[in-house]
Order: sequence, then structure tokens, then C-alpha cells
Amino acid sequence: MTSTLLTRIGELTTNVAADGDPCGTLHDAVVVIEDGRIAWVGPVAEAPAADEIVDAGGRAVIPGFVDSHTHLVFGGDRADEFEARMTGVPYAAGGIRRTVAATRGASDDELRARLAGFVAELHAQGTTTFEIKTGYGLSVADEARLARLAAEVTDDVTFLGAHVVPAEYADDRDAYVDLVCGEMLDACAPYSRWIDVFCERGAFTPEESRRVLDAGRARGLRARMHGNQLGHGDGVQVAVAAGAASVDHCTYLSEEDVTALAGSDTVATLLPGVEFSTRQPYPNARRLVDAGVTVALASDCNPGSSFTSSMPLMIALAVREMGLSPAEAVWAATAGAARSLLRDDVGVIRPGARADLVLLDAPTRVHLAYRPGVPLIAGVWKDGVSL
Ligand SMILES: [Zn+2]
Repeated sequence: MTSTLLTRIGELTTNVAADGDPCGTLHDAVVVIEDGRIAWVGPVAEAPAADEIVDAGGRAVIPGFVDSHTHLVFGGDRADEFEARMTGVPYAAGGIRRTVAATRGASDDELRARLAGFVAELHAQGTTTFEIKTGYGLSVADEARLARLAAEVTDDVTFLGAHVVPAEYADDRDAYVDLVCGEMLDACAPYSRWIDVFCERGAFTPEESRRVLDAGRARGLRARMHGNQLGHGDGVQVAVAAGAASVDHCTYLSEEDVTALAGSDTVATLLPGVEFSTRQPYPNARRLVDAGVTVALASDCNPGSSFTSSMPLMIALAVREMGLSPAEAVWAATAGAARSLLRDDVGVIRPGARADLVLLDAPTRVHLAYRPGVPLIAGVWKDGVSL
């Protein structure tokens, strides 16, 4: 068993709250990694001996990013749709259904190779934990296939058969909801930790959403939800009532929604890549934090509305457009997102936690927002292994 000592860390974000600082910031710090876990955290002067020493040279170290909302198993892309949206050209977008067709037409090996590319992309940008949703299969066999492929690369697989009603069920949506809650759930549950539903006008109603979440919970899955993305609606209230770990998007919220979130354990996960990529108004993160709501940031990486996996970009957007301080945004992209996945072993640098760390090529975490678009990831450790 070898130990690694990461020394001369100019600014260490531990996320172990101390003295009114939720980020638990330490200076001139050392982290010791042993057996894939954090073994010791403290000042340089008190550092224990270790087999290997890495000199951070006064730069900043943060927990690896936790991307708690992605849709990474899919075929094709929709660059033409994005270009049309950005240039104002009318475009008969097939939207999600178009990706469903491309995904169904792709082989396991094609999807697996694509996924491996995305995982490498995530790691290179400092993301060490990520959730992946199904939702581009929308048949029993294809949803189970996507769940199985996602489970090859993450423990946090989310069954999202209730992403959209597929074309073949357009005239009988009740039959589709029955399928999602029955045979499709049975086929996906063995690979999944989470159940999700897109509760929105044009997707699934509050009643249908409740049914889906209840069916998943009865199978031992934990609930999370897409809600309040395109307009006001009942998504947040349904999610909170169902005890969901997270309700994601939260772009349009009433006072009652904010109050319900503040009085619950449900995390509000904000996905600013969507607003950036669709030119929609950003959610008001400041209002949520001020009300006492736990806020997470995630990429929502998907080929339609947010084809980016960059957590530093999410941080920059949250600071520039959504009213968070740099410290709050970094916390939301690490500890907040971990909370939305009900994980206490990631998003934090304390003895016993997984040794998932990012060394920034910058003296402070502020640079993640201060230098948008600049590659600042100088080193990444996942389970103690340098990637
Ligand atoms: Zn999504």
C-alpha cells in the first residue's frame, strides 16, 4: 500500500464547513492519499511521512466535480438543430425523438465507444463522479440496454423511461406510462439506483409523474425529477412530496416552490448549460440560496439542449448569470451535487472520503469563474489514482 502526499497546496477547498465557511478553506495545506481514500488533511508543518510526494506549488486543490445530471448514452448529434436555433432559421426539430431513433439504430459497441469518449472528456475536465440517465431508448429492450451500458461506467444510473412519450404511443400515452411503470421498470431496475420523470407541459403530467416515481420507489429506486424547466408547474411540489433527492432545472419557481424546497431535503439542481445553449433566461440561484435551499450545479450534458460536459463552465455561468459567489458555485458543483446523489463519500476532502481531487493551474478556486473557457485543470485523482 503506497501513500501519496500532496503538499504545498496554496488553497484547499475541503467542503468541511468551519467557522462560517461552507467550503472549509485551508491554506498551505497537505492531503495524504492512501488506498484510494483521503488519509490525512492538515498544515504543511505537521505533515506525516509518505511514499510519494507531489508538490502543488502553491496552487489550489478542490474536490473532484460531481456531475449529478447527464444523458450520456445516445447516438448521433443535433448540431443542425442548434445551428438553426442560433440563426433563427425555422426548423422542424424532431427533438428527443430524433436522438431516440439514432440511439436505437446504434450497436452496443458504438454506444460503448461513444460513452468511453465522454468519460475521458469528463475526467479531463475534473469530473470524478457522474450520474447517467437512460431515456433515449423508450422501449423495454432499448431502455434496459442503455441502463446496462451506463452501469458499466457509473454506480449512479437513472432510469428515465418517462423522458418523453415515444412516437408509437402518441395516441395512447396511458399505455406508455403503464409500460414505464411495469415491464420497462422491471427490465431497468437491476441496473439503476434512481428513477426520474420529465414533469412538464408537453412531457408528463403531475399525476403521471407521481405514478412513475411511486412505481420506482416501490422497486427500491430513489426519486429525482426534471421539473419547472420551461414554465411554472407542479414539478417541484410533486418532487418534494415524493421525497425526491433532487429536482432538476428549477428555472421557473413560485414563492411556494421556493418555500417548499427550503423546508425539505430536496436539492435544487440548476443546469445553466441548458439556458446558455437555448438562449433562455437563467434560474435565480441567489434567491434559492438566500431562502436556505441546497443548490447543486450539473451539466445536463445531452445532444439537444446542452451538449457540454464542462463543470467549470457551469461555475462560470452560475457566478456571472445566476448570482452565486465563486465559493458558492464551486460548493454547488462538488458538495451540493454530491448531496443531490445522496453521496457523502465524494464532493468533500476529509479523512475517509474517496480520494477524488482536482489540482487547479491557479492560486484560488475563484479562477474557475474569473478565467472562463481557460483549461485550468492541472491534475485529477480518482480513487487516489492520478488520471
Ligand atoms: Zn436532463
